[in-house]
Amino acid sequence: MSYVDEMIEAVVAKNPSEPEFHQAVKEVLNSLRPVVDANEEKFRREALLERLVEPERQIKFRVPWVDDKGQVQVNTGYRVQFNSAIGPYKGGLRLHPSVNLGIIKFLGFEQIFKNSLTGLPIGGGKGGSDFDPKGKSDREVMAFCQSFMTELCKYIGADTDVPAGDIGTGAREIGYMYGQYKRLTGLYEGVLTGKGLSYGGSLARTEATGYGLLYFTKEMLNMNGIDIAGRTAAVSGSGNVAIYAIQKAEQLGVKVLTCSDSNGWVYDPDGIDVAALKEIKEVKRARLTEYKNYRPNSEYHEGRGVWTVKVDLALPCATQNELHLEDAKALAANGCIAVAEGANMPTTLEATEYLQEQGILFAPGKASNAGGVATSALEMSQNSERLSWTFEEVDKKLQDIMVNICHNAADAAKRYGFDKNYVVGANIAGFEKVVDAMLAQGVV
Ligand code: GLU
Repeated sequence: MSYVDEMIEAVVAKNPSEPEFHQAVKEVLNSLRPVVDANEEKFRREALLERLVEPERQIKFRVPWVDDKGQVQVNTGYRVQFNSAIGPYKGGLRLHPSVNLGIIKFLGFEQIFKNSLTGLPIGGGKGGSDFDPKGKSDREVMAFCQSFMTELCKYIGADTDVPAGDIGTGAREIGYMYGQYKRLTGLYEGVLTGKGLSYGGSLARTEATGYGLLYFTKEMLNMNGIDIAGRTAAVSGSGNVAIYAIQKAEQLGVKVLTCSDSNGWVYDPDGIDVAALKEIKEVKRARLTEYKNYRPNSEYHEGRGVWTVKVDLALPCATQNELHLEDAKALAANGCIAVAEGANMPTTLEATEYLQEQGILFAPGKASNAGGVATSALEMSQNSERLSWTFEEVDKKLQDIMVNICHNAADAAKRYGFDKNYVVGANIAGFEKVVDAMLAQGVV
């Protein structure tokens, strides 16, 4: 059996209750076959894949807090420090009831390659909790964040591990966590990214993931002789990634027809109104049913459905495994030309394969959504030099980073005979740098 197949079997056997982690490992290792086969003897002797799929450290802890009724609540906190070969662990904190160790491991594993692709010195990590911020008061969110950080602060630091936002963790949560870290350690340092502008945050970090997704998509289309202007797009989600993806898409002349939340989706034939979406989601923290009040021409539908709309571009920006095989078939039947992932692993493996077989350009999240973490690394640089760059400076660097990622992925794919396969290209390009650093640093 090949080394890759052995490792996939071993990961499934060793971590039986972690299907999302299996999925991420399968996707990455399958793409790495040409590199692994060419170096099989050396990689086996070094147990390179065994080391790659085993987190350097994983921390699981109790998070007790008191709700507004005086009742004690208990959540589980996680931080998986997956790989520090090329820099301090870096990756977000997900707060969502679905969070478990397998989900954090899948996200942490993806983060290794994503962070490597940015070209910046950041290792891979991820964390979070099964706490659900939805419907909680500000005081409850603060109580949770303070308790979570009281334990997490023992394991993180500006040069060790730098968490950030993810689903459920936005500016409010990062603020509460930062305050508690500072209080407990006495350190005013860049230990978290996505901070507010008044206490060390970077301009353009809020917009970065969504903007970066569009910079990548534009470049991928360009490389294939297609102009992004004048296209239509379906976006899923209505959180931070979706909002700024829609905003940048519209600036680039793309008409975005949809967005969604966990209850339903909106179709707006005139193009999604970003100002309305921001008010509903960021100010009111309300549901998308409200959108119709702002845009009477729009339609609200319960359940799933954004991928049934006829569009040129599909940008899944909600969560993992939200775009299934039947969705891929519907997109293809409607003449979709490209799918670019804003979320982490939103497309199932079978849907990805189907889209690629149909000749639809497919950008994997670890490449196309890397603008968020890349700008986090720029925030770390600014914190280290105790300076703040202008919006234009950060945005320009972000654009260059996304264009580079796109070319590096395309080149790596071509080198191994998989022209236009950005999944293979992104995985190989991300892996090469990490492996080089791991081999150079010996058995650690
Ligand atoms: N959660 C984001 C991601 O999936 C950003 C992580 C960060 O900025 O560290 O990449």
